[in-house]
Amino acid sequence: MKLSKRVETITPSSTLAITAKAKALKAAGHDVIGLGAGEPDFNTPDYIIDAATLSMKEGETKYTPSGGLPTLKEAIIDKFKRDQNLTYIQEEIMVSSGAKHALYTIFQALLDEGDEVIVPAPFWVSYPEQIKLAGGTPVILQTKEENDFKMTKETLTNAITPKTKAMIVNSPSNPTGGMYTKEELQAIGEVAAERDILIVSDEIYEKLIYGDAKHYSIAGLSEDLKARTIIVNGVSKSYSMTGWRIGYAAGDKELIRAMSNLASHSTSNPTTPAQYGAIAAYNSDQAPVEEMRQAFEERLDLAYEQLVGIPGVSCMKPQGAFYLFPNVKEASDAGGFASVDDWAAALLEQEQVAIVPGAGFGAPDNVRLSYATSLSFITDALERIEHFIKRTT
Ligand code: PLP
Repeated sequence: MKLSKRVETITPSSTLAITAKAKALKAAGHDVIGLGAGEPDFNTPDYIIDAATLSMKEGETKYTPSGGLPTLKEAIIDKFKRDQNLTYIQEEIMVSSGAKHALYTIFQALLDEGDEVIVPAPFWVSYPEQIKLAGGTPVILQTKEENDFKMTKETLTNAITPKTKAMIVNSPSNPTGGMYTKEELQAIGEVAAERDILIVSDEIYEKLIYGDAKHYSIAGLSEDLKARTIIVNGVSKSYSMTGWRIGYAAGDKELIRAMSNLASHSTSNPTTPAQYGAIAAYNSDQAPVEEMRQAFEERLDLAYEQLVGIPGVSCMKPQGAFYLFPNVKEASDAGGFASVDDWAAALLEQEQVAIVPGAGFGAPDNVRLSYATSLSFITDALERIEHFIKRTT
């Protein structure tokens, strides 16, 4: 079959590849521990499931406006006010089928052939692919591990060309778990304003933050930055609702209208009962979000201590999300592996621990470990990694 040039440029997701291999090993009877997951291991809180079930029983099973139910938009507007003191109106909000779809639609609505979007590496695997699918060019901005993988005013300035249309800010970050401080966002924002660049701010991990870290949205720093930022968020990670597929974008009215038009010809609307679930998520008791956050924090503290005690491994302490992103190059080189990809493949085959190699995130010396799994699995997996390194070096 002759496929379109467009799809031929897409790189398959490295996260899904390792998950598939781990599943195959598991099916063959191996005792595999998967640390590849990009989703919380908790079930969705009951009050959300109940609200969605009730909505269906009451007949809310039909199409909704393509940009989402007005009541959900109101709940999102209230959430922005409550959490970030940001003011939006309904015309500035579009509800999508997950945050991933909001991002996809943003790039489709914004980019013309050859427009550049700055993507700081390490990056979430879908950004470059979505940009390419929209005809744009992802410009990968390499950050430094010693700077906790964050871009600076200087590195951002150097990545800008006359073709730069937009840039991505993802704080907390997948895969590093790093977060930008208010001052760092201010510095980046100044460059974006000077050079008239749009900011796509992916804040999907906003609620999963630890220690004394504080989440800031770059849109909250000034009126100018708010006007040039489109925020992407959703219920997937904070409310353990990955399968419900509800996300949203908030920003410029004209862009939101274009995105909703696009959605009207692709998805029609985000799933109706899931939208009712999301309304309950935002309008009801927030205690379950905090309970899940605390569970993640406990796991992070434990896993981090154990991980940095392993020889040949170094890791920045994440402040958010649910990933650790250690550098294992020393262990991989000492073991004689040609690459960290090979090291990770051998770890899966020999010790049955599935982790995601960093190359797909633009960081070939690192690997991503998700701690969205039980404490006992995490401890066991890290013991196996230590054993693997000791045995191969
Ligand atoms: N943005 C980042 C950084 C993510 O890690 C993910 C999910 O893995 C998404 C967006 C997409 O979230 P959703 O499940 O709402 O589409």
